[in-house]
Amino acid sequence: MSREPILRVAINAPLSRLFDYLPPADGANSLPRPGCRLLVPFGRRRQTGVLLEVAKTSDVPAARLKRVQKVLDPEPILREPDLRLIRFASDYYHHPIGEVVGCALPAPLRQGKPLHESRQRLKLTADGAHAVPAEAVRRAPRQSALLELLQRDGSLAAEELDRLLPGWRQPARGLVAKGVAELVEELGPPPAAGSAQKTATAPVPNPDQAAALEALSGRRDFHVALLDGITGSGKTEVYLSLIQETIALGRQVLVLVPEIGLTPQFVGRLEGRLGLAAAVLHSSLPDSVRLATWRAARSGAAPLVLGTRSAVFAPMQNPGLIVVDEEHDGSYKQQEGLRYSARDLAIARGKQLDIPVVLGSATPSIESLSRCREGAYRRLTLPARAGGAAPPLLRLVDLNRHPPTEGLARPVVEAMRRHIDEGGQVLVFLNRRGYAPTLICRSCSAVAECRRCDARMTVHARSGRLMCHHCGAARPLDDSCAACGGPVAPLGQGTERLEDTLQQRFPDFAITRIDSDSTRARGAMDQALAAAISGQTRIMVGTQILSKGHHFPDLTLVVVINADQGLFSTDFRGTERLAQGLIQVAGRAGRESRQGEVLIQTAFAAHPFWHELLTGGYERVAAMALEEREDAAWPPFSRLALLRASSTRRADTHRFLEIARELADDSPQDGTRVLGPVAAPMERRAGRYRGQLLFQSRTRRALHRVLASLRPKLEEEPFARRVRWSIDVDPLELF
Ligand SMILES: [Zn+2]
Ligand SMILES: [Zn+2]
Repeated sequence: MSREPILRVAINAPLSRLFDYLPPADGANSLPRPGCRLLVPFGRRRQTGVLLEVAKTSDVPAARLKRVQKVLDPEPILREPDLRLIRFASDYYHHPIGEVVGCALPAPLRQGKPLHESRQRLKLTADGAHAVPAEAVRRAPRQSALLELLQRDGSLAAEELDRLLPGWRQPARGLVAKGVAELVEELGPPPAAGSAQKTATAPVPNPDQAAALEALSGRRDFHVALLDGITGSGKTEVYLSLIQETIALGRQVLVLVPEIGLTPQFVGRLEGRLGLAAAVLHSSLPDSVRLATWRAARSGAAPLVLGTRSAVFAPMQNPGLIVVDEEHDGSYKQQEGLRYSARDLAIARGKQLDIPVVLGSATPSIESLSRCREGAYRRLTLPARAGGAAPPLLRLVDLNRHPPTEGLARPVVEAMRRHIDEGGQVLVFLNRRGYAPTLICRSCSAVAECRRCDARMTVHARSGRLMCHHCGAARPLDDSCAACGGPVAPLGQGTERLEDTLQQRFPDFAITRIDSDSTRARGAMDQALAAAISGQTRIMVGTQILSKGHHFPDLTLVVVINADQGLFSTDFRGTERLAQGLIQVAGRAGRESRQGEVLIQTAFAAHPFWHELLTGGYERVAAMALEEREDAAWPPFSRLALLRASSTRRADTHRFLEIARELADDSPQDGTRVLGPVAAPMERRAGRYRGQLLFQSRTRRALHRVLASLRPKLEEEPFARRVRWSIDVDPLELF
């Protein structure tokens, strides 16, 4: 007997290797191809895996090899280009390939459900249409009821019947036996057809847009372009032209956007201009919709695929262009499981497919700017607002000269009144939800702390609770000190308190607070935004939810209550983030005919950061940050990875990281430094003690070598079972 081929399968498990199986008992003649899903025995359960390779031999002894139970797909569900991206992500991020496959597949496919969902439907036969229920199904009231339902509608889908008549399958069998009904299988809904009402036509591009388009259009091979354009400069118009051009050639476009909240506005605009429906993919869609959309992307039925982070894995039949909007945005980085950057994967994918990648931002990441400097990316700037509106005027309000009352300095209140009197709108920005960040005892100065984290509890006055923003713990708001029984008071400003203060100062105006607490209820966000956009609301208070994307035509003044925290960040990305946040929120002001004004309250007006930002804008701050990073050898002048660990026992976390450090092969000629173990700055979170090792290399290759040898050793290390650990390549947060 000739030896059977070995099927090497990726399984959603936290182990880096593939698992070997024999072909199914009945299928040795027609082997499944890589990319097909297989049902395999795994431990004591059955698992859905994806075939990645067919090999001649296995390291597993023949007697221990098990057989594939079932081949789930007649054709590969993941095709070669999809598998290539998955392999790349697994190698690059040192993450088990089975879990990467899990990220790339919608949930129903992970669970082994068919790609083309077939649905059962109960239909009336010709006989059934004329049958009189009471006679046809005498003494069977449930059959009679079911027949009546069918006669009303002709046919009903299984899920409708589940709702209308639970337990309908038994009477249905009776009706089928009598020949009055039949059960038919039908294919799921057809993929989203590509049509939408064309509602707008392209404006004539301004000279900057025209120059960008001239540089980009017509090129179909891989290159990365960074579209660096201030808010309102018309980046979307440039995307639109490129998208239109690509689709006209019969190829698909993938557009990534940072947040679900922004998608509807953006989608509406794209659809209105392109006259076709976008296939939208994001994590809060129902499974069935997500699967249908994924299918439409895969078959090529959807010319435009738009989604958040995970859409970077969407399969495409005939891809032609990838666009990453707001490329600097932190939400492109997944912070759990496979810790990938969707922007970076989009670029890798563009390279694999040999298609262009266009990144856009008003505040490009330092990494991307650095790539432009090296000549790897092409930078195209849109320096002016489309329509000629002037950019907003930034000014500091020195809190030492104008001490604030209840968080607001006098010049700020005066400016607000002036803008409102002139018919403008005001946005007051404070990146801290709740009423106050601290509850303090007036007698002994003790503060209310979370019992499970090294963190303070935030006062939430509306719900009368103390909440921990790190672990979600909540308890009733104490009215006396837990330590001494003395009186307690909230300390500092949160959005709730600011809302109260503003309402007292401006009693004649409606104030809308927009943060993740006020918008939790379904539809609340849309309502608040509608009130703001219509101009009904004159004053908005909000967190960074408000700083992105939304367009408020009457908004003329933005007030930033407290930016000082960002000035003293210990993270090397601190100034970059602060500048990005401020520029984004400032970009909301004065978008139409009126010039906007931005007031920033600070107690450190002499800090050099302010001078650079006010005189040179983001450009200058970014150049400065790039120099600092070069001096200190931070990315992009070095490569970083973190090994994070946590445990309910501090000693276990530390011991594991010590072991990992010993296992790490950091031969000095590689130029990789291993720093730590150190405790995370907030060591205890949700009852777990957290610590980390930092790997820093001059080159990507050196870092890769260290991690590639370390990961399998950690998977084998018995002590590793006592902790949770993860590897984060190119971490965004250093703790
Ligand atoms: Zn006290
Ligand atoms: Zn907590």
